[in-house]
Amino acid sequence: MKKYKEASVKVVSELICDRCGLHVVKGDDEYSEFICIEHYCGYGSILEDGKLMCIDICQHCFVDSFNENLRLSELSQSH
Ligand SMILES: [Zn+2]
Repeated sequence: MKKYKEASVKVVSELICDRCGLHVVKGDDEYSEFICIEHYCGYGSILEDGKLMCIDICQHCFVDSFNENLRLSELSQSH
C-alpha cells in the first residue's frame, strides 16, 4: 500500500537552444526534437573531473554540428 501527499514539482515547460537561442514551449513539434545532454565528467575528462556538463540544443544546430558523424537507422534496427 502506498500513501501519497501533495507536493510541488518543477517540470520543464520551455527549452532554449544553447547555440542559436531558439525558444520552444512544451507541445511544439520542435520541443520533442530537442537534444538535451547531461554528462558527469569523470577522472579522464578533458573538461574537469566531477563537473556536470549540460547542453540543450535544437535539432537544427545538432545536425549542423554533427551531421558528418550522425548514424541514422530505423527504430527497429537501432540495437
Ligand atoms: Zn539551435
